[in-house]
Amino acid sequence: MAGNHLIAIGSYFEWDREAMASGYTLHEVPNADAVLDLPADVRAEVRAIAFKGHTPFGERHMESLPALGLIANYGVGFDAIDVAAASERNIQVSNTPDVLNDDVADLAVALLLAQSRKLIEGSTWVRSGDWPKKGELPLNRKASGRRAGIVGLGRIGREIADRLAAFKMEIHYHSRSPKDTPRSWTFHADPVSLARDVDYLFVALVGGKETAGYVSRQVIEALGPDGILINISRGSTIDEAALLEALENGGIRGAGLDVFNNEPNIDPRFLELDNVVLQPHQGSGTIETRKAMGQLQRDNLAAFFAGEKLLTPVN
Ligand code: NAP
Repeated sequence: MAGNHLIAIGSYFEWDREAMASGYTLHEVPNADAVLDLPADVRAEVRAIAFKGHTPFGERHMESLPALGLIANYGVGFDAIDVAAASERNIQVSNTPDVLNDDVADLAVALLLAQSRKLIEGSTWVRSGDWPKKGELPLNRKASGRRAGIVGLGRIGREIADRLAAFKMEIHYHSRSPKDTPRSWTFHADPVSLARDVDYLFVALVGGKETAGYVSRQVIEALGPDGILINISRGSTIDEAALLEALENGGIRGAGLDVFNNEPNIDPRFLELDNVVLQPHQGSGTIETRKAMGQLQRDNLAAFFAGEKLLTPVN
């Protein structure tokens, strides 16, 4: 469609590609930097970007697209996009909140259960033939009824807490201010105090510079040797060096991690550890949710091209 030039950054499912190609003049590139290699006459026409992935998209990319008015992110976390630089140029940014809350919260709880009930080891025990040879799997630890803490009681954090409450857990949380929660939940003004008072710590913060290392060495130390840390947010929110040390030296009991620094080439020290469950950043990775995320991204694009208000604006 003439005039509706759209760049799709990243790798899309066929159902998303087809929908975008039928509505727009689509230019597909694998990552943010590949935008700079598009011919100047194409870049001059582009009014919107469907952004997917984690490669940074900043000033120099925006400068190369003089007609750009919208960056529609596929995902709720938009830390790869320089939103301040976009706002300065009157470029709108949108994301895909809420439609993925259930999946990410499900995975957070699954990571805790997998870690504390040794689900990966149990599966290996059966498949390897150890069961008939060695008998019972060594005992694991009870998951229900313990004390759970959420760092960042936002949309996903709240869904995690609601699930943990159904596991008869005592709920604690840290946010920048107290939230409207059931009366039995305990607010902590600082994350060290939160970690000290719980057995399991779930990280559900936004990523980006402002929260880099928020779960600090002190927080990890406060969680202590019987504690389990679950991270479904971004690798950057945790002091990863301190986490690795704690896992290697018994500073905490274990971890369940869906996100890391430098994905997918994560620190190889993680691979040596048997007290951590590792997942390949698949928190929202179900067919249902990915379809809903693609739809919401396109709904924002459609609103922009129609000159209407975005459904889920970021800036
Ligand atoms: P949200 O509703 O915006 O909640 C974000 C939380 O981060 C809030 O609790 C907020 O604190 C806190 N926060 C924001 N800025 C902060 C700052 N400067 N200092 C301290 N705390 C700050 O976001 P959401 O929808 O729950 O998503 C959370 C994150 O999950 C996303 O940003 C994304 O990185 C990650 N995620 C991961 C996956 C995956 O596949 N693993 C999938 C989806 C999302 P307040 O409570 O004080 O406002």
